Amino acid sequence: MNELLKKSALELADMLAAGQITSVELTQACLDRIHAVNPRVNAFLLIDDDGALATARDIDERRARGEKLGRLAGVPIALKDNMVTRGKDTTCGSKILEGWKPPYDATVTLKVAEAGMPVVGKTNMDEFAMGSSTEHSAYGPTGNPWDLDRIPGGSGGGSAAAVGSFMVPLALGSDTGGSIRQPGAVTGTVGVKPTYGAVSRYGLVAMASSLDQIGPVARTVADAAALQEVVGGHDPFDSTSLDEPVAELEKLTAQAAGKPLAGTRVGVVTELQGEGYQKGVLDSFNASVEVLKGLGAEIVEVSCPSFDYALAAYYLIMPAEASSNLARFDGMRYGIRVEPESGHVTAETVMAATREAGFGDEVKRRIILGTHVLSAGYYDAYYGSAQKVRTLVQRDFTAAFEKCDVLVSPTAPTTAFKFGDKIDDPMAMYLNDIATIPANLAGVPGLSLPCGLAAEDGLPVGFQILAPAREDARMYQIAGALEAGIGEPIALSCPASEWEEQA
Ligand code: GLN
Repeated sequence: MNELLKKSALELADMLAAGQITSVELTQACLDRIHAVNPRVNAFLLIDDDGALATARDIDERRARGEKLGRLAGVPIALKDNMVTRGKDTTCGSKILEGWKPPYDATVTLKVAEAGMPVVGKTNMDEFAMGSSTEHSAYGPTGNPWDLDRIPGGSGGGSAAAVGSFMVPLALGSDTGGSIRQPGAVTGTVGVKPTYGAVSRYGLVAMASSLDQIGPVARTVADAAALQEVVGGHDPFDSTSLDEPVAELEKLTAQAAGKPLAGTRVGVVTELQGEGYQKGVLDSFNASVEVLKGLGAEIVEVSCPSFDYALAAYYLIMPAEASSNLARFDGMRYGIRVEPESGHVTAETVMAATREAGFGDEVKRRIILGTHVLSAGYYDAYYGSAQKVRTLVQRDFTAAFEKCDVLVSPTAPTTAFKFGDKIDDPMAMYLNDIATIPANLAGVPGLSLPCGLAAEDGLPVGFQILAPAREDARMYQIAGALEAGIGEPIALSCPASEWEEQA
């Protein structure tokens, strides 16, 4: 493997700025790696050699002319395939959108372009971001770079596996219930769900609009911070976008690394540990809590009793919103159109035939559940109750953040499981997000960083840090301090770096 690919995005940015490498050279190295290993990982649904190299050439020329460029100019990135890219396939991992070329760019797509970052491709995902393993992708699952027989998490397994297997230093994901953080945890990468509204959702194909949030996927905390600075900020095209400037996340993260955490109160959430959590996960998590203590942080135990009901509330609110959002895929406006095999061809029968053929089982399951909980007779009992639980979860966070600066937990209850283990048991699959979902219900930021390998299987474990809304900087600072305290860069020990490459 080309040694450049092991470097962090910020190291590469420094090398580009110093003229030690060109963006064309770096982008080509990523593309070569992608062509050599993607056939066995299936992290990419679209590889855009021409588009990426055109951006790289443009940046190299502008740099040569002495233009002032952004921090990450010339550093390649991958986008999850639910972020629209003008004229380039965007499938959301679904057959229903096969061949659809969006007529516009998402705000993040434009921001990445303005920052001069070559987009090497679009990454695999569970269909419409519904899942925790990528096994619900219509284009086949993605392999975990630590063990190709295991899941890379989901729904953003493609982005996490692409970064984890050194195909690209950075990617973007979307997190509705954990789809950036849980893949980060099981692939030994860093995944961040910013505060709701911190990054524009314009052009992100909606799953559950009140929960969806775009965020960075990286191998280091500082890389993620730098990427959030690029994609964050107010967007008049997204009415839920926060109207405030983005903090200097990279600088603050760098300053925190290696500094003591005296005066920082860290709350360990009682409800997010214990039963159902793998021993090796808890051991690595507890060892990292000791690292925080060693850095001078004060560790307190905090109870958030409503978190026990968060998963149930999520699986009512999310399908309700998804059923409404996915109504637009009707065979008239986007993607494939299927005519009924028999009977009359009417708008209604074409819509039904298209949705029958185009959506996978998990998507259909959630649409049915969502329309049911929104139906007149059941609305109060299900959707209404779930919204009340959502308020209780928010109150638990507010109370907890009065006692401590951040909350911590394992990101996922287990390490990466084997393909097929949970696919026939939706409940078992859903339980993987037990620790990540509360943050989405409350809109607070959450970050997962690798904190060790589980003793029983040698697979990566994720450590989750949750901060109050708008305090993304605090979350990054503590993550940066912990990362430095843990010392050994877990992402770099991924066996993917030893893979033989066949073009
Ligand atoms: N795994 C969760 C689900 O299936 C979360 C998905 C996501 O965050 N997009 O809903």
